[in-house]
Amino acid sequence: MPTAFPADLADRLLAWYDRHRRVLPWRAAPGRQADPYHVWLSEVMLQQTTVAAVAPYFRGFLDRWPTVTALAAAPLDEVLTAWAGLGYYARARNLHRCARLIAENHGGRFPDDEAALRDLPGVGDYTAAAIAAIAFERPAAVMDGNIERVMARLFAVTEQLPGAKSRLKALAAELTPQRRPGDYAQAAMDLGATVCTPKKPACVLCPWRDACAGQHAGIAEGLPARQPKAERPTRHGVAFWTLRRDGSVLLRRRPDEGLLGGMMEIPSTDWRDRPWLLDEATAAAPAHTEWRSLPGVVEHGFTHFRLRLTVVAGHARAPELARGLWCPLDRLGEQALPTLMRKVVRHALAKAY
Ligand code: SF4
Repeated sequence: MPTAFPADLADRLLAWYDRHRRVLPWRAAPGRQADPYHVWLSEVMLQQTTVAAVAPYFRGFLDRWPTVTALAAAPLDEVLTAWAGLGYYARARNLHRCARLIAENHGGRFPDDEAALRDLPGVGDYTAAAIAAIAFERPAAVMDGNIERVMARLFAVTEQLPGAKSRLKALAAELTPQRRPGDYAQAAMDLGATVCTPKKPACVLCPWRDACAGQHAGIAEGLPARQPKAERPTRHGVAFWTLRRDGSVLLRRRPDEGLLGGMMEIPSTDWRDRPWLLDEATAAAPAHTEWRSLPGVVEHGFTHFRLRLTVVAGHARAPELARGLWCPLDRLGEQALPTLMRKVVRHALAKAY
């Protein structure tokens, strides 16, 4: 790996950015200062998902809550409902907590340095650096998966991730310029997303091509090297599609802490390592009735495990009172149902009738 690199790498990337920058809903026009609220909101939304998936959510949030103070004043449930479908709901809860904290403790203004930003709920190293650089022109080294990949290739770093992280960050920090650090951060993100892509990087279009050690050595596409991932285990559960005579279905709120915290769900058993027998599962059912297994299963991937949910359907007998919320089928769209539970609803509607 080279220890010295051409002094004009940052300038070359900025010149490339001036011609090829992506137009994104949260990005300020060239030469304009970015709004910290827009940067923060988009970066939190973009964690673990794609630009295309985030764009409509971002616009929807801004239409509804144009400032961080407006978001802070919104009921949590409305925020969770608007977030539904983006996944990782702890982030939506932290988003709301963070908005409240900024409204109450910072007079509705985001702090402008990395360390103070990192103290906010749900704001980690990456998001703090991105806000500091893009909204406040601080020369912060912004590291996400895209930029790690570009650095590993540019400097031909063959050490495996995650061990190589600190080395890649040090290299990125050394390259980060004092001039236009916000544009530089966005340029590096764009380069990773559009040119130095995980498969088949378009090196002929790259402003760093002649300096790129990975490209010269013919090893760029295989970088960054990663430790092989452990196989994700599978967990099993049973979801209870519980109908009332008036055609409404039973929902329940999940506990605030833990996976899908605070979101509405179709009541289900625990999710455990081995499959459930129907008799065993119905001990955890929300109503005493006859349960009928629907054909097929609902599969869903979480970061650390895969889930297979069997759905069983039953009718709650009047006057039995199951605890939860009875929701008319045509109003399910208004509930803060996470993606997994939307899959359960679709499965039940397709198989139960
Ligand atoms: Fe990535 Fe190719 Fe550019 Fe190197 S030359 S940084 S591998 S796109």
